[in-house]
Amino acid sequence: MVVEQEMAEIYPPEADELSEFLPETDCGNCGFGSCIEFAESVLAKETRPHKCPDLDDNFADTLATIVEMNKAPIPYNLMMEQVPCEIIEINSPDKDSPVLITCNFQETVRIMKEILEATSTEAFLLPTHTHGYSVDNAVHEKMFKAMEIWKAIKDNAVEARVERPTMIIPGLAEKERNSIRQLTRWEVVVGPVSGFLLPLFILNNK
Ligand code: SF4
Repeated sequence: MVVEQEMAEIYPPEADELSEFLPETDCGNCGFGSCIEFAESVLAKETRPHKCPDLDDNFADTLATIVEMNKAPIPYNLMMEQVPCEIIEINSPDKDSPVLITCNFQETVRIMKEILEATSTEAFLLPTHTHGYSVDNAVHEKMFKAMEIWKAIKDNAVEARVERPTMIIPGLAEKERNSIRQLTRWEVVVGPVSGFLLPLFILNNK
């Protein structure tokens, strides 16, 4: 049974989660008392990310793009629309690009594609069969399964596309990490809860 809700959403970034991507020195050079205050102001579109002198231009540009994106929740009547579990190449990825695991809910895949394309992130996006559940609902309903991830990897011959067998799973699916690792024998890295922060996570882990 689906989790009761009238709107689904890609979790918007929260200031405390965003601040984990900042230097976290609370130096005050941006005019704020702490990195978390700066993050709050950036997310409210009151301050440009470039005001932190410790962020490189690429990181600040990426954050600025993320902040400008539409974070509107998805209407309930779009729930359960599915896409095929076929790998999607974003911005011409190469063998060192990350493999990003997601659900097969059409709107999640559409928005993740939009975020990654807008931020010029090179990646392989791999929808896995969750019966059209979004990631949070799929985890709740035990539909975010290691077996389905393994099947999607095999069906798409992903191992031949990348140098290292490493995948990034959504932060919302953290508790599935061990079962995915045990079944697939891939390294499993847990990404951020908010899909909007995925480009920053990838930049920080290059
Ligand atoms: S300048 Fe950067 S590191 Fe210093 S408090 Fe502001 S956000 Fe944090």
